Amino acid sequence: MTNQNPNSSSARKAAVIGAGQTGVTAALGLLDAGFAVTLYSDRDQRSLRNDVPAAGTALEFGETQQAEIALGLDPYTSRAPRHSGLSVRIAGEQNAELIAFDGNFDGYVGVAVDTRLKADERLTTFQERGGRFVVEPVTPETLDAIAGANDLTLVATGRGGLSNLFAVDPVRSVYDAPQRKLLTVTVTGLGFDEGVFAHRSPAGGGHSGFSIFAEQGEGWWGPYLHKDAGPSWAFLGWARPGSDWETRFAAADSAESALAIVKNLYRDYIDWDLPEVLATENIIEDPHSWLKGAVTPVVREGVGRTASGHVVAALGDTAVAYDPIAGQGAQGGLIQAQRLVAAATIHDGAFDEAWLAGQYADFLAARSDAANKVTRLFLSDPEFADIGGQFFATAAVDPRFASALVALLHRPQPFLAIDSVEAAGAYIQQVTGEDPAELLARFAPAGRFARSTFAPALV
Ligand SMILES: Cc1cc2nc3c(=O)[nH]c(=O)nc-3n(C[C@H](O)[C@H](O)[C@H](O)COP(=O)(O)OP(=O)(O)OC[C@H]3O[C@@H](n4cnc5c(N)ncnc54)[C@H](O)[C@@H]3O)c2cc1C
Repeated sequence: MTNQNPNSSSARKAAVIGAGQTGVTAALGLLDAGFAVTLYSDRDQRSLRNDVPAAGTALEFGETQQAEIALGLDPYTSRAPRHSGLSVRIAGEQNAELIAFDGNFDGYVGVAVDTRLKADERLTTFQERGGRFVVEPVTPETLDAIAGANDLTLVATGRGGLSNLFAVDPVRSVYDAPQRKLLTVTVTGLGFDEGVFAHRSPAGGGHSGFSIFAEQGEGWWGPYLHKDAGPSWAFLGWARPGSDWETRFAAADSAESALAIVKNLYRDYIDWDLPEVLATENIIEDPHSWLKGAVTPVVREGVGRTASGHVVAALGDTAVAYDPIAGQGAQGGLIQAQRLVAAATIHDGAFDEAWLAGQYADFLAARSDAANKVTRLFLSDPEFADIGGQFFATAAVDPRFASALVALLHRPQPFLAIDSVEAAGAYIQQVTGEDPAELLARFAPAGRFARSTFAPALV
């Protein structure tokens, strides 16, 4: 897209509130589409990069990268270490080692990029191209004036911020509390050579590791692009309420203590990947390289009104907040931003409530409803327990289905129509060409997962 002189007085005016990666991406997209754009942030650019933790791990896949490319943006696939698949290990009651499979990403890659880096670089480009960046915490009162002065106002202030301006959608918001407690830490000291995680599959560390414990929670470990350390590694853990992991995660109060907790977690539970984890070190340049908390998954209405009745649209986490277990939040926000920019570019009329609500309904149908359902599948929501059992056991038997299962993180849409064991079986048959019952009959518990023999940590 070319910049059609956004400073001309005839340019349509847009305001974006919140300079996280979703807001900055939308602001830059609208600017390049010829809008005169003002981006409001409660922090200045230096503070956005250095005074806060990354908003999340932000692992994203092909469909999201295509959305960024459609906006003329770099999806970081040439700078970030690439994920070529997912190594899944599932332990049942009393941590019995049950299911192991390695799903290849077929025709796409994953990259996990520090949200602070992506937002910072896009913010620099935004300003260089003539976008107006205003450092000012926007309140409901000032938002009223901003929305009155602009043709289009997008609110991308994250899960807190101004999200209360948008009513919760009670049908789509199925949980009233967080399903997990979260702990994440980004580390260095472990390279990317062939020996790293070589015990899991020939892809080694190119596959991130996802270990599921029925009684504790889930642990993920994978390649990451950190704003200061460059190619590095990230841990993200989910603790079930009342679990030992929940107690452990609660004790984290610094990057150092978070990494110590993670190392002990691997020693006590996930020892198949322990040597690599023991080789890691904290990123000393970044005291904010860790985060703990919890997310209540919420879907809001996409359109709100300010005090004097101006319409504003919700974007990114302000619109939909996901538990990160299926990596859908950052992806959804970027896809929503790209869709809105593309539609706004060719829209001649007013950005009124009907238009904004229509765009949001289209986004929910095209991506977000499916993304929420896949998130529930990976959260082991009891509603999908039978389907999940069938899917994960089949993945352990058939690599084609392993690939299709992990592809739901990239394109969740195939899962939207699957509501029964029969429909799940039909999907397995469609992917593999084989009878789902016969595949399932071939499943045998793993017994004991292969253990790492990674050398440096053994010395
Ligand atoms: C632990 C964790 C792991 C995750 N992993 C993944 C993953 O692997 N893949 C994935 O796709 N997603 C993941 N997510 C989700 C992802 O990180 C978020 O969806 C995404 O970063 C949200 O971006 P955002 O720009 O919408 O919001 P934010 O990053 O929260 O940005 C909002 C911005 O608005 C600013 N702001 C707030 N209030 C105001 C105000 N009143 N005025 C002006 N500015 C304001 C804030 O300071 C902030 O800069 C994860 C989330 C977590 C918590």
